[in-house]
Amino acid sequence: PFELKGKTVYVAGHRGMVGAALMRRLAQEDVRLVTVERNEVDLRDQAQVFDWFAKARPQAVFLAAAKVGGIVANNTLRAEFLYDNVAIAANVIHAAHQTGSEKLMFLGSSCIYPKLAPQPLREDSVLTGPLEPTNEPYAIAKIAGIKMVEAYRSQYGRDFISVMPTNLYGPGDNYHPEHSHVVAALMRRFHEAKLSGAASVVVWGTGTPRREFLYVDDMADACVHLMKTYSSAELINIGTGKDIAIAEFARVVADMVGYRGEITFDTSRPDGTPRKLLDVSRLTELGWRAKTSLADGIRRAYEAYLASNPNAAR
Ligand code: GDP
Repeated sequence: PFELKGKTVYVAGHRGMVGAALMRRLAQEDVRLVTVERNEVDLRDQAQVFDWFAKARPQAVFLAAAKVGGIVANNTLRAEFLYDNVAIAANVIHAAHQTGSEKLMFLGSSCIYPKLAPQPLREDSVLTGPLEPTNEPYAIAKIAGIKMVEAYRSQYGRDFISVMPTNLYGPGDNYHPEHSHVVAALMRRFHEAKLSGAASVVVWGTGTPRREFLYVDDMADACVHLMKTYSSAELINIGTGKDIAIAEFARVVADMVGYRGEITFDTSRPDGTPRKLLDVSRLTELGWRAKTSLADGIRRAYEAYLASNPNAAR
């Protein structure tokens, strides 16, 4: 086991949804937390990252910084998703190695698995087939990060590990109408429809794709658990083990928000991968389980959305 207690711990990406949840969770640990703002260190800039690591000397690193977005952002900003995420992974992992960080956790994504891999997705299905085209640039960048973790582990004996979260949601999500992920997008759209009294709300795609959703504070808790207990070149999935069809999920969000109108499907929008459910047996064997039900998580996420929008009257 890795002792976090008393260590200097760096959360890369602490302003993001996952990084902020890690900060909340790590506040309960006896550690010295260090972070740096984006306008001080651009993680895509090698020299800035190396200088900062040489000064801060983190003993443990959570690499939760990434350029992220929903299906449309991934599919249209293809150059940025590839370049930014490769640069961030390469710079941070190499700097952690050069300055002798004792442990590093790289956060990947369930989209690294082949589009048609058997479900639930097992960790060993990585690189067994073609990727889902809409998020291939992001997936390739994340696979590069995973391979770096593996290589620094085997060549230099570094205790670097990679975790693969399923679709995440919660406080601090991005509510951009085009670029957000489905949870934030629908929460906002149903909320605004409720306020304006709109008779119908559009959901993208056919409604038949299935997704697994994990509340971000559960994700942070799993990360801290694995940072302490997991040391292996093998990937490890983080999810709930349960999935839901987008049409049914839309109903759950509408009910939580209190939207009573009609729901329609815009099939000119992409469905993405037909199903994305993680096999979480490796994680379960290590004694960790998600604690927040989908209903509770959506309720809390909606409260956070309302709190972050002072003008969003109920
Ligand atoms: P993905 O898991 O990488 O495909 O990420 P998303 O969260 O963007 O999309 C998940 C699923 O929700 C896809 O099948 C989308 O077509 C569907 N979806 C339905 N409505 C929306 C929406 O308003 N925004 C987004 N991002 N996805 C939506």
